[in-house]
Amino acid sequence: MVHLLPSRSTLLILVVVEAVCLLVVMLGQQVTVLNLCSQDTHQHTDSATLPWPTVYVITPTYRRASQLADMTRVSQTLMHIRNLHWIVVEDAEMRSQVVSELLERSGLPFTHLCATTPPQHKNQKSMGKGVFNRREGLRWLRENAMDGVLYFADDDNSYDIRLFEQIRTTKKASVFPVGMILKLGVSSPIVRNSKVVAFHDSFQAGRKFAVDMAGFAVNLRVIHANPNATIPLRLSYLEDGFLRQLRLELDDLEPLASGCTQVLVWHTKTQKASSPNMKHVTHTDFDTNLVELYHNLLR
Ligand code: UDP
Ligand code: MN
Repeated sequence: MVHLLPSRSTLLILVVVEAVCLLVVMLGQQVTVLNLCSQDTHQHTDSATLPWPTVYVITPTYRRASQLADMTRVSQTLMHIRNLHWIVVEDAEMRSQVVSELLERSGLPFTHLCATTPPQHKNQKSMGKGVFNRREGLRWLRENAMDGVLYFADDDNSYDIRLFEQIRTTKKASVFPVGMILKLGVSSPIVRNSKVVAFHDSFQAGRKFAVDMAGFAVNLRVIHANPNATIPLRLSYLEDGFLRQLRLELDDLEPLASGCTQVLVWHTKTQKASSPNMKHVTHTDFDTNLVELYHNLLR
């Protein structure tokens, strides 16, 4: 009988083990509570209730065989970004149903506009692409938005969604590398001691800001402080002209993408494709899907 009773030392061990267990349980609860707290905080910082500056993206687009493919890709990239307003400006007399439906499908806050090139500038070889529709986007922005950040996103580039979070906090103007540009295969600000000192770009040509349209973002305060600044007409000088008119200096430029050591946007170009033509649907196809397929393609 005596042997069945725990000895004093066994009792001590049991008490210690129990205490440790209790501590572990309490700690466990504590950890859980802490986890819940940090999760709450995390969810809170993530929520749209915080005053995130809005990113306004202006996309010039026009009818070409790759338009719907390009625009689908951009829209489905932008769909990942919170607090973003997409301004799509068609280079056309009228807004198209194809683009309008794509914008509705995206669920994004958007503005759908159009603008054409005035006749006197049509077919001018020295004129940049997408000038008048970008200008129309700027006009809308000046009239309708006070704060936020502007970014020009062509319809056929490829964007890493991390870029949009980085440009959101642009104070004046931010700059970053763009992949797949001309001979060098990249266009990038040159950064020394965290300051932009020049541009690594194969087309210098007297440009103060040798950047691509996809390589910078501007705070709307700068846009409003320079109400007449616009996109110039001259081919290859659109970015430089615009940034100069915004009275920016190299010192104002904030290098993003880890001090311009990463590429978060690429100047991809969709391969030129043939436009489908109804003449390729013959009378033997009249009772097949091809009739409706081509009808959809040619809208
Ligand atoms: N663009 C336009 N009208 C045109 C040609 C181009 O609105 O007549 C747009 C086009 O959709 C794109 C941007 O302007 O968003 C730049 O055009 P593109 O991609 O053809 O130029 P590249 O990539 O060759 O510089
Ligand atoms: Mn392009």
